[in-house]
Amino acid sequence: MENLEYKNKNAWFRLQKPEVMDFAEGYKEFISKNKTEREVVNFAIGEAEKAGFKDLFLESYSGEDFFAVNDLKSVLIFKNGKADITQGINIVVAHIDSPRIDIKQNPLYEKFDVALLKTHYYGGIKKYQWATIPLAIHGVVILKSGEKVELSLGESPEDPVFVISDLLPHLGRKQMEKPAREVIEGEALDPIIGSIPEKGKDGKESVKKAVLEILHREYGLVEEDFISAEITLVPAGVARDVGFDKGAILSYGHDDKICAYAAFRGLLDTNIPERAALVMLMDKEEIGSEGTTGSQSDFLEYALEKYMKASGISGISVREVLHRSFALSADVNAAIDPLYPEVFEEQNAAKFGHGIVVTKFTGSGGKYNSSDASAELVYAIRKLFNDNEVPWQIGELGKVDVGGGGTIAKFLARRGIETIDAGPALLSMHAPHEIASKADLYASYEAYRVFLSKKIELIK
Ligand code: MN
Ligand code: MN
Repeated sequence: MENLEYKNKNAWFRLQKPEVMDFAEGYKEFISKNKTEREVVNFAIGEAEKAGFKDLFLESYSGEDFFAVNDLKSVLIFKNGKADITQGINIVVAHIDSPRIDIKQNPLYEKFDVALLKTHYYGGIKKYQWATIPLAIHGVVILKSGEKVELSLGESPEDPVFVISDLLPHLGRKQMEKPAREVIEGEALDPIIGSIPEKGKDGKESVKKAVLEILHREYGLVEEDFISAEITLVPAGVARDVGFDKGAILSYGHDDKICAYAAFRGLLDTNIPERAALVMLMDKEEIGSEGTTGSQSDFLEYALEKYMKASGISGISVREVLHRSFALSADVNAAIDPLYPEVFEEQNAAKFGHGIVVTKFTGSGGKYNSSDASAELVYAIRKLFNDNEVPWQIGELGKVDVGGGGTIAKFLARRGIETIDAGPALLSMHAPHEIASKADLYASYEAYRVFLSKKIELIK
């Protein structure tokens, strides 16, 4: 007899196997080493080159599988399919920027014999979560000479870390009465970077000057160089297993590097896809997908034009190709938090460990700002994942009118690409350390690999 009721199973029933744990180890190494979009782009270039992909922007490029780097902060990785690009492309798009604390362009100061850096946070954070935890510095500085210096300090056990102080509870009575948004103010996210004055000198701002001396000695940096720098503070340290069973991973930046990694691996592990397959690792999602490296830019069209020219494909426009294409907007969702179930509508919320979450629409209020995938597209994905035994669930972000959020989906959909959201559900999303299930990581990898390799068709 046909099963009339819909029941969604825990993905571990299918995924208690060594390859799931092995895959998680590879991911942990990746996410521990690559915390900024520049670092992820470098990782992707290295791995793509090893796998035989060619640089689209080389003079000698002539239609091979390619990677295309955009301003060092976003990258497209493309694989030719059995059918050529005129049949459309299967695209998985993820973002590689994560919430963090950026350093201002004139950041250095000293107060009460402590040297600090002024900062401006990036993306949606609960500011109070970022105080008192060890932070590492990652970034680039362009010196007066034009030389580019890469900074990474705070990740090795012997490295110093940086830290934002917080008030002791004894004197925090007034602070504790403030709304959480104001407990730590935006201008109070300044990390301590030094406390030793210049040797033998007792002048003004002696600690700041001593720090400048160190920066000059170690990196050739002078204070004005901060103006032409992108320096960011991220939680220091490596990804760790969570729980006695090691079923989950605690790490900075799961949003959205977990999807970026799963999609990228999915593409590399696809032999020859039915149609052309493309993974887009994008920047600036956390601040609206703006800028040359965000998903609203025309880099996708630009790269495809170049590819078609080099491959001798003519008689079809890039716009036509995009209208024949499908995309998974690979971004994380929120799993029901056992400590805060009241903001979720249980029947339609994602469950931790229940596989990749397919989301028909995002947005807030009356689906405001959502691209809302069609029933036909949801059916195509449902059939694809069921036929290929991908553990998956349907999920919506939180109760109606409680809040909401958006993804890259709408920026692909507006190009005529049939797009739907699909990604693993996290706990503590946007916290300095987020929690992901290893089963959901693996399910997402399987989902992206299957999507990239198969032909997708909409029923009429
Ligand atoms: Mn995201
Ligand atoms: Mn986010």
